[in-house]
Amino acid sequence: MKDVFCMIIAGEIPSAKVYEDDEVLAFLDISQATKGHTLVVPKEHYENFLECPKELMNKVMDVAQRIGNAQKKALGASGVNILTNVGESAGQTVKHFHVHVMPRFNDYKDGLEIIMKEQDDAKKDLAGLAQKISSEIK
Ligand code: AMP
Repeated sequence: MKDVFCMIIAGEIPSAKVYEDDEVLAFLDISQATKGHTLVVPKEHYENFLECPKELMNKVMDVAQRIGNAQKKALGASGVNILTNVGESAGQTVKHFHVHVMPRFNDYKDGLEIIMKEQDDAKKDLAGLAQKISSEIK
């Protein structure tokens, strides 16, 4: 099914392009949660990070790294958040694998909030939890 990023890739709707090669496209996120907020996507459609073949995923991550470095140089960012959401429960709204590359600035109030709160319940059996995940790694 054609999603909004497929349409951007096909040139059917406009975007502010940051980078393009045969397999990967990067463009500014329309919401600009931070100034310079960029999305990196594979041109071939995969629903999310977990579905994307490794070789292509590596190319997307390589471009994300290069854009993060460019944001530091070009915009004077002091930090960068790299984020990819998998599934609705994780906040994914566009079902086409994408990596958010979001520059951060000292003394600048932006629209990005990442809060990680300790969960006492989840912390109860770390060894058991680690073993459970470990046993399913392919
Ligand atoms: P996610 O919530 O991780 O799926 O992120 C989807 C992102 O796509 C959001 O940050 C949106 O602002 C962004 N987005 C949606 N439509 C467009 C568009 N036409 N051009 C650029 N970014 C878009």
